[in-house]
Amino acid sequence: MRFEIIERDGLARTGILEIGDLRHTTPAIAFVNSRKYPAPEGVLSTSTIEEAPAGTIGVARSEFEGGSEGRADAANIRPGHRRSPYCRDEEPSDLSLPDSASSLALDSGKFVQFVSSAKQGDGILKPLYCTVLGLPHRLALLSYCGFDIFDSIPLIMAAENGSYLTSSGVLEYDSVKDLPCSCPACASGARGKEQLLRHNYNEAQNELKLIRHSIAQGRLRELVENRIRADPWLVQDLRLMDLENYGLQELHAPIKGAPFHAGSKESLSRPDIVRWRRRLEKRYVKPLGTRILLLIPCSARKPYSMSQSHMRFRQAVLASGKADIVHEVIVTSPLGLVPRELELFYPAQDYDIPVTGHWDSDEKRMAEDMVSWLVESQGYDMVISHLGDEREPVNSILKDFVDTSEGRPGSAESLERLTRTLAESALEPKSGTKTYRSVEDMTSLCRFQFGEAGNALCEGAKVAGRWPYIKILGDGEQLGMLTGERGMVSLTAPGAQRIADAGTYSVEIEDFVPKGNLFAVGVEHASPEIRIGDDVAVVHSGDVRAVGVARMCPAEMEFSERGEAVHIRHVA
Ligand SMILES: [Zn+2]
Repeated sequence: MRFEIIERDGLARTGILEIGDLRHTTPAIAFVNSRKYPAPEGVLSTSTIEEAPAGTIGVARSEFEGGSEGRADAANIRPGHRRSPYCRDEEPSDLSLPDSASSLALDSGKFVQFVSSAKQGDGILKPLYCTVLGLPHRLALLSYCGFDIFDSIPLIMAAENGSYLTSSGVLEYDSVKDLPCSCPACASGARGKEQLLRHNYNEAQNELKLIRHSIAQGRLRELVENRIRADPWLVQDLRLMDLENYGLQELHAPIKGAPFHAGSKESLSRPDIVRWRRRLEKRYVKPLGTRILLLIPCSARKPYSMSQSHMRFRQAVLASGKADIVHEVIVTSPLGLVPRELELFYPAQDYDIPVTGHWDSDEKRMAEDMVSWLVESQGYDMVISHLGDEREPVNSILKDFVDTSEGRPGSAESLERLTRTLAESALEPKSGTKTYRSVEDMTSLCRFQFGEAGNALCEGAKVAGRWPYIKILGDGEQLGMLTGERGMVSLTAPGAQRIADAGTYSVEIEDFVPKGNLFAVGVEHASPEIRIGDDVAVVHSGDVRAVGVARMCPAEMEFSERGEAVHIRHVA
């Protein structure tokens, strides 16, 4: 058996499962194939280990049954692989599977623990097999948690129980007068167990098509937040995944993901959003010369700078003559805060939220915490709140500040008041500071992207270009460039050398110069802070050989023997 991961979206992935001569795209249903329930034509199937033909999954029937030999060209699951207490000493299976899947359905704590243990070490390379749980409305969450193969047992059990399965929940077959489906079984007009089973198969396969599409688009999380509404257990599973498996999810969450709608309570705890807030607290330092914090509301249009309202704020700040020492920070849900210089960085320009003008208690607490942290950690000399209707979560916690936005923050009176307040403040640029604001802004962004190494990247550098395309220049050469599409800095080889010298964001290879892209087989070591989508230095013994974009998380780069690890942009 061979399993190759093709596309990744957090822990979810699409892959090719090759058993014998047969290839199947995952996530997939493994259809039980028996005399009573023959599997549909041409699908991945599973049967008893003695009967499993080439290219299928063979399952040993009972925990007491040892010794039955499976075919070499089938993928076999033996009692020991299910951690049966009667059968321990076996070679590890090619598949990874829980010992008691059915108990995971009703124990969210056990479920998230299992996901965490299955995704440790080289476990991430094995296809994760799920028995009994794969009802259509659960498939999105299970795929999101990294399951790849689902047996058809729950689809058969549902047909036996008269349950008509849909992607948004389970209906009682006999009570549905007009079947909400036009699959051949439903459209036939006949009603019976056989039609119900065929419908259930069809519904699960359709849902998997949508899941594979969502993974390819990097948008599975939105589908999950939608599907879990069908069952409180699923909501509980996702919330616990976010609380207890944040670290695991964050390791796999791309640094630049697809745009998304943050439309549910669970959106607040998406791993990429929580990472934004935690990374601010861990890495963020304001542009050094700024002295006045100006808090402003977000805009529907992204990046915010392109919106009418933000252009007016900008004009009001410029008119005061104090723009160089004003630090604009946007207060927004679900990110909390977006410092102006980070507004292109994912997900700051990639989210949409429903805006009602009212903050719920979770959003309010999050905004309060973030503003408190910002004011306490960054040492501003003055704080201005220009938030209008959004002032409530912020003004309640600030002690010493000026509110310049009575009424709408975009009104002429509010904007004039903002200009006047800034102009009348006695604050001026600190004497002795020799850097330019544009360099300070870039340094702040690079520190957010690369941690401390971002300081080294911008040390003594200049910047040039027209926003959002800004080059970093140092030692007479280009070190990197900010682009609007990525929202982050793409390194050149000399820039990558500065990052590598600081000991981070590096992929260590053997002594060769990559031709084309770097494959996992050539990777010796990868810095633990690398996330998919990060710019990385490809290094041998401190010497930068190439620079490119990470396509795998560090663990996968190190354990995997195949697949593109780094998409190379420049060879040094
Ligand atoms: Zn149907």
